[in-house]
Amino acid sequence: MAFIEISSKNLFHNLKQIENKVGSKDKISVCLKNNAYGHGLELMAKLCSEYGVQRAVVLNMTEANIIYKYFKSIIVLLETSSENIKENIEIVINDVKNINKIPKDTKVHLKIDTGMHRNGIKPKDINQAFDLIQKNELRLEGVMTHFKSADVLDSTLFWQNDIFQKCKKEIINLCNKENIKTPLFSSENSSALSRLNKHEDFVRAGISIYGYCYTSHKSHNLGLKPILSLYADKTSSRTLNPNQKVGYGGHGASTKEHSKISTYDIGYGDGLPRLNENDIYYTADNEKIIGRMSMSVISIESDKKRVLIFNDVQSLAKIKDTISYDILVSLSPYIQRVCK
Ligand SMILES: *Cc1c(COP(=O)(O)O)cnc(C)c1O
Repeated sequence: MAFIEISSKNLFHNLKQIENKVGSKDKISVCLKNNAYGHGLELMAKLCSEYGVQRAVVLNMTEANIIYKYFKSIIVLLETSSENIKENIEIVINDVKNINKIPKDTKVHLKIDTGMHRNGIKPKDINQAFDLIQKNELRLEGVMTHFKSADVLDSTLFWQNDIFQKCKKEIINLCNKENIKTPLFSSENSSALSRLNKHEDFVRAGISIYGYCYTSHKSHNLGLKPILSLYADKTSSRTLNPNQKVGYGGHGASTKEHSKISTYDIGYGDGLPRLNENDIYYTADNEKIIGRMSMSVISIESDKKRVLIFNDVQSLAKIKDTISYDILVSLSPYIQRVCK
């Protein structure tokens, strides 16, 4: 059966690189949303916690409840109201209007929209949000923002960061005035943490823990290693004559005469992007994919029992004109994840 292998060695290497960049393990929160970017939520939670990471970020309560025992703090990005929230689960406020929906005593992170204009309160609404948080007896654990183009080498990251620094000052003043504990600040995703030299209380590292990062400048290179390898197993083999074509539509022609073509048990039904006759793709061991990918199988110029579809998703992402996040996150949760 097709399976995914997660390299704990590469994961620990990536976490170490991030730790070196930001100064300590305590400053890392790992972004495990969307089934840990397709890597397997619980497996990744377990490994990150084994390394010593104490913070995670997920999308919703379902994900948070699966991994609550592995972390000291779990930030939930997109949940507005929920009952029986565990002590270590913290809810993000994306809109002033949501504050009234959160049950009393819940730990919250206030998100500030510093320029992405997707989620978060406007800087001018900080006072109002602060009052509502107090009135509803919520516990302000953190204040965060998200950068819209930290991967682009222009000044956007810096002006957004300037806005955040101003908000931060204002919040620290409010806390001092009201005699409340100062919250933890966070802003950096992977690209931002690789570009900025001064880090907030913790960073929210997503794609970098999985081994990819998207800033093009060499000085931002964290030396990361992809951690996910996708394997498929042979279901059958045949030798084709040059005039015989493979798969739906008969578009798959072998490049060799009388070549051995085998079918392997992975397809677009497993979440891979559908490769068609126009996509030229080779496995990690340089075996050519022939013809159109089917829902559950793929034909490859190989006779091996097992093939490595990829151990670095970037070439596949390039062929499909997308980003590595997109392909990784789409990998079906039904594929077995094993750890090496
Ligand atoms: C997804 C996400 C991250 C992680 O981003 P990467 O680019 O994968 O490092 C951090 N913060 C928030 C709010 C996110 O939604």
